[in-house]
Amino acid sequence: MFGKIGNEIINDLKAIIGDNNVITEKERLEDYSHDETTTPEIRKYPAVVVKPVSAQQVSKIVELANERKLPVSTRGAGTGLCGGCVPVYDEIVLSLENMNRIIEIDRENMMATVEAGVPLMEFYEAVEKEGFFFPPHPGEESAFIGGAAATNAGGARAVKHGVFRNFIRGLEVVLADGSIITVGGKFIKNSTGYSLLNLMIGSEGTLGVITKVIIGLVPPPDVAYTLIVPFINLHKAIRVVPEIIKSGIMPLAVEFIEQDVITLSENYLDKKWPGRNAGAYLMLIVDGMSDEVDRLSERLAEICMAHEAVDVLVADNKQKQKDIMDIRSRIYEALKPGLMEVIDICVPRSEVAVFVDKIHEISEKYGMWLPTFGHAADGNIHTHIMKVGMKDDRLDDKEYEGLEEKAEKIKEALYSYSREVGGVISGEHGIGTVKKPYLSMSLDERQVELMKSIKKAFDPNNILNPGKIFDL
Ligand SMILES: Cc1cc2nc3c(=O)[nH]c(=O)nc-3n(C[C@H](O)[C@H](O)[C@H](O)COP(=O)(O)OP(=O)(O)OC[C@H]3O[C@@H](n4cnc5c(N)ncnc54)[C@H](O)[C@@H]3O)c2cc1C
Repeated sequence: MFGKIGNEIINDLKAIIGDNNVITEKERLEDYSHDETTTPEIRKYPAVVVKPVSAQQVSKIVELANERKLPVSTRGAGTGLCGGCVPVYDEIVLSLENMNRIIEIDRENMMATVEAGVPLMEFYEAVEKEGFFFPPHPGEESAFIGGAAATNAGGARAVKHGVFRNFIRGLEVVLADGSIITVGGKFIKNSTGYSLLNLMIGSEGTLGVITKVIIGLVPPPDVAYTLIVPFINLHKAIRVVPEIIKSGIMPLAVEFIEQDVITLSENYLDKKWPGRNAGAYLMLIVDGMSDEVDRLSERLAEICMAHEAVDVLVADNKQKQKDIMDIRSRIYEALKPGLMEVIDICVPRSEVAVFVDKIHEISEKYGMWLPTFGHAADGNIHTHIMKVGMKDDRLDDKEYEGLEEKAEKIKEALYSYSREVGGVISGEHGIGTVKKPYLSMSLDERQVELMKSIKKAFDPNNILNPGKIFDL
């Protein structure tokens, strides 16, 4: 159904962007054959990788692909966790890595305009230097702004301010026929027709290639404290979260973590977590004006102690806070060698405690370790289906028996339970190829049909990220 990418096409691509920005050598293609998903079956080498430097070059590449019916997978930093940027067919992989300019930080409008290939870590630094703050913080700072927009990334700091969607004001997008459009702009309100802006955000590269992003900024907080609150078990920890939110305090982050993965990450990083030997912890970050943060932290401590917290430990200096954040953020890295797949379910906040009990029940039933942590106040639960267990605080080197079959049953049980309690199968990572078989467990047929009609309207030849989210 697709055209073949042979020498003639490679030469046409070189004519558009120059020889140096076209990769065909096998050893250099390896880097583009995967993302951070651990599922080995999704690996596939691109036929060719192209690295344009401007929206005009992207436009010419996509126009050529559309004319010749060639599939194109758009790639950001490749930190995704569902195979979204990895080709399914013999494809052109369009990498945004050379489009990495911070074009402007507009102080009056408190908005930044950046190219899609700017890494998050560079963006945070540039924004901070100009005296602003950008709250959304997905756990992997090497991700690109364009990739984060295309997956509507979230992260730990979504509780108070929301996810990427809440900050994206405008996008420049190259459509499947090569036309370049700008949706949204440097304004806050917009009731001018359908929101193509919101349709593009989270569309995982299936509707267009994002080349530029306009992002809203906020003033930085004076101060932030991190509170570590130990509980005897995870259920008790999570039960407190609705009480915190009902009290009117909106922390920047509310994370839940069990002791076993804290120990693993401590060992991995050779760093120490503030609490010891609790069953589970809440990690709360409170920010704002300095006197306000003292008062809010005290109130939070009172609420937690009134709901069976064992203690409340406060990290009020940047180094301690950084160590805590490192241990939390790098649990994934510590688990990765024994990881089969990470699940990204999102349920109503009120259901998280019961959901976590269900995960423990499933873990026992199948005799598999399913370390679970995540964003408690957002209802976003990351369950890790492990190939191995833990022994002496390290990953065990023995794989579970009947792994594939058990993993499949675990996923089905979790996905169907998420639907029962009014949740979805992905809160922030997206669908890509890895969760594609389970989409119908989350959305009804009519919704998927509508999505397919939208895809066909934007991309009639199905050249952009074909085989992602759903099959046409
Ligand atoms: C350790 C770790 C922690 C993580 N923590 C979080 C977290 O807390 N929250 C969270 O939301 N995610 C998290 N992620 C997932 C990942 O970092 C995010 O999904 C990130 O936004 C992906 O950005 P990327 O540039 O790497 O995109 P890629 O992986 O390259 O691509 C992701 C998807 O976006 C599409 N895409 C990329 N760029 C563009 C573009 N310019 N135009 C159109 N489509 C495009 C791709 O085709 C693909 O479908 C984590 C990943 C890791 C490895």
